[in-house]
Amino acid sequence: MLSEKKDLLGIKELTAGEISEILDLAGEMKRVVLSNDKKLDTLKGLSVVTLFYENSTRTRLSFELASKYMSAASANIAASGSSVQKGESLLDTGHTIDRMGTDIIIMRHQSSGAASFLAKNVRAGVINAGDGMNEHPTQALLDALTIKEHKGGFKGLRVAIIGDVLHSRVARSNLYLLNKMGASVAMAGPATLMPKGVEALGCEAYTDVDKAIAGADVIINLRIQLERQKSALFPTVREYSARFGLNENRLALAAPDALVMHPGPVNRGVEMNSAVIDCEQSFIDEQVTNGVSVRMAVLDLLTRRKRNAAH
Ligand code: ASP
Repeated sequence: MLSEKKDLLGIKELTAGEISEILDLAGEMKRVVLSNDKKLDTLKGLSVVTLFYENSTRTRLSFELASKYMSAASANIAASGSSVQKGESLLDTGHTIDRMGTDIIIMRHQSSGAASFLAKNVRAGVINAGDGMNEHPTQALLDALTIKEHKGGFKGLRVAIIGDVLHSRVARSNLYLLNKMGASVAMAGPATLMPKGVEALGCEAYTDVDKAIAGADVIINLRIQLERQKSALFPTVREYSARFGLNENRLALAAPDALVMHPGPVNRGVEMNSAVIDCEQSFIDEQVTNGVSVRMAVLDLLTRRKRNAAH
């Protein structure tokens, strides 16, 4: 169970039982998030620090609000405004934060494996808020909460994950989670943005987006990760959006009640057009709300051992 662990580094190492434990608690936390009394004492006396080496809007803010709703002392560091700019190593920065009595460090970093490296070297619990192209576990968990709420569960669902699969930590975490929970996954994107041999991870793989979308119960669109592309991997944005973008015609290939999702930030008119982003089947706003609920649940579970030991 997550409540027995120190860190949340990836979905890969969670069991289906642990995923359900988080989603059940996140469902309860959502009531707090939507109420006019967003105050729990859960993290009273504990401190939470976010350490972000890459940009973020949703993930960082939702962790910060989740910490505040649960009465933690919380603080944020962006690498761009810190001693990282003066050449301090991740290890030294991590030690410094640890030595201030921090209980949980939430880190986003451009290198795959950075969160597990930090976790091995600090006393604080570490939550991976995205490590390079590897994993973004809380994103997959909030996506799962959204799917569970609207589809009732995962067994037998067909989920299409579309776009820049190669560079997407969101795609990887979602694939692990959906496989563990009994959904089937079809990935699709330009050949240059599909990882070689991705089928071996447990999915169908296409370069024809329509084949992945056909009959899908859920469509998760991905942002093109220009910051991770070392060379131009597709001809033009216009061609990308014509061949791979989600529009009304493509959406019509999916199940009639298919959910449309996107982790954000969305590039309107590139991976999806505005008509689809704002349509009734789009649950992008709800994903954002669920992001706070899921992060509250994770913070609660990861601090339970410590809180119980203190009594
Ligand atoms: N916000 C997500 C991430 O950090 C998705 C994205 O940036 O495209 O991975």
